[in-house]
Amino acid sequence: SSKAPSHFIRHMIDQHLAQGKHDGRVQTRFPPEPNGFLHIGHAKSICLNFGLAQQYSTDYRAACNLRFDDTNPVKESQEFIDAIKADIEWLGFSWQGDVRYTSSYFNYLYEFALQLISNGKAYVCGLTPDQAREYRGTLTEPGRNSPDRERSADENLDLFRRMQAGEFADGQYSLRAKIDMASPNINMRDPVIYRIRKVHHHQTGNQWNVYPMYDYAHCISDALEHITHSLCTLEFEDHRPLYDWILQNLTPESLQKACDELGNMGGTTHYVLPQQTEFARLNINYTVMSKRKLKELVELQLVSGWDDPRMPTLSGLRRRGYTPAAIRNFCDMIGMSRSESIVDVGMLEHSIREDLDENAPRAMCVLRPLKVTLLNYPQGQTEMLSLPKHPKKDIGHRELPFGAELYIDRTDFEEVPPPGFKRLMPGTEVRLRGAYVIRCDEVIKDESGKVVELRCTADLDTLGKNPEGRKVKGVIHWVPAHAALPAEVRIYDRLFNNANPDDKSLGDFKNCLNPDSLQVLTGCLVEPSLAEAKAEDSFQFEREGYFCVDRRDSHADKLVFNRTVSLRDSWGK
Ligand code: ATP
Ligand code: MG
Ligand code: MG
Repeated sequence: SSKAPSHFIRHMIDQHLAQGKHDGRVQTRFPPEPNGFLHIGHAKSICLNFGLAQQYSTDYRAACNLRFDDTNPVKESQEFIDAIKADIEWLGFSWQGDVRYTSSYFNYLYEFALQLISNGKAYVCGLTPDQAREYRGTLTEPGRNSPDRERSADENLDLFRRMQAGEFADGQYSLRAKIDMASPNINMRDPVIYRIRKVHHHQTGNQWNVYPMYDYAHCISDALEHITHSLCTLEFEDHRPLYDWILQNLTPESLQKACDELGNMGGTTHYVLPQQTEFARLNINYTVMSKRKLKELVELQLVSGWDDPRMPTLSGLRRRGYTPAAIRNFCDMIGMSRSESIVDVGMLEHSIREDLDENAPRAMCVLRPLKVTLLNYPQGQTEMLSLPKHPKKDIGHRELPFGAELYIDRTDFEEVPPPGFKRLMPGTEVRLRGAYVIRCDEVIKDESGKVVELRCTADLDTLGKNPEGRKVKGVIHWVPAHAALPAEVRIYDRLFNNANPDDKSLGDFKNCLNPDSLQVLTGCLVEPSLAEAKAEDSFQFEREGYFCVDRRDSHADKLVFNRTVSLRDSWGK
């Protein structure tokens, strides 16, 4: 789109295209591990990868793949795969062709490992994980060569085949790239590229006893999909030399042959190396963004699930009432840089508030009902009022019946008002939104002294016009008693009450969970036009905030609304 932001990655791709690099193609991929639900951090990567493919596809061959990076079967599941696909589609993106899986390349990855072994570039190592750690050295001390480093290629081939055949136990052997134990970059000190894991895999079943490591599998998977730009977060910067080493130490012919077999050449004839580029991950205050921590909240039932409206997951934000457009705009706003920073959650809230202010129909909902009886309005009679659905946008009207019995919000009445109170108090007037000016004549209380009803008089000459000779400042919302619909309203606050729950000095991140992050209001009343509201429809409840119909719990006979965000915008002020 024309307002897509420019940044260093686009500048780089522009240059590559101008130079004819990568054969004039832009092929990206989004590679989630299916070990949890996607969060707002992933949205940054999704908008980047799928966004680039969209932006360049007008003038070039450009596309984005969805690839499940499923090399760690123990933590992964089909449930997560399905949820991730649904979230990406909901955000408004589509991937090229079929969904891909790293696991569908396991045969190639295995063959490439045999090739590295044959060429003396990988060896089977019998050090235990503890020994291997000790041999690796430290930041200031070089590592030491494994005693198995000079084993012959034939022996290594035999051992690796037997690892896969299931002859050895987990951890007994590993396959390591033969690079440089003295490298200042620890990632280059003969990294493990395969390990024995005798476990079931959600895609490949019990076919494999060895599984490739991320660093080995990722670059080759990129190559096999003929990816041109492999975009990842900054923590992989130090892994880039390994990414390049592996691809440079496989023969270009074998890579090209594999791409051909897989039909992944993207219309070009010669194979080009993919290029890794890093960008800063998204961090937001007052939340956590690691899947491990989010999973812990779910498993300990500290939230209702991955899609709890307080979660920073895409499905949580969706259920909270965030729209795909607001999330995409937010990702544009935060920009793309190479230095880590923490984005204020107020900016995310700003993005949805802007969207809903512009697009959400208005409606009235009384959260804490207080009965109002109009003494001078004919009892039992009703009239139909028509109110615009939106103050600025022409999206039609809603019908609202008016009668002698109404409900207003308890907080809009004060018997002993504080200074500056502009709403209803004994003997004063206020306007009912879209209806008449009323005056409070009498306050009815129960035995405990609680106000239970207000008896009022309506000025019947004030529908759509100001009263004669006096000013009425306050406007309050209301619903008709005879036609209002009961509803449950869930008011959400931040899940954590500390700006940085990841701060180690606070102890466990769960220590700063906000005990008041969910407040459930029952017995709320909404205007009757909301009977037609569908799951996920958003509204501005006048004077209260933005709310959406809960997509799981709301039914025709029991409406449930989630507060997406309050009306007040503090961001950028
Ligand atoms: P987590 O630490 O939350 O488990 P991850 O990086 O392990 O995240 P993946 O499923 O591997 O999760 O992520 C898929 C893609 O999304 C990766 O390319 C990763 O770089 C990107 N990504 C993940 N988290 C963020 C983030 N906070 N900001 C930007 N991109 C992210
Ligand atoms: Mg990852
Ligand atoms: Mg992870």
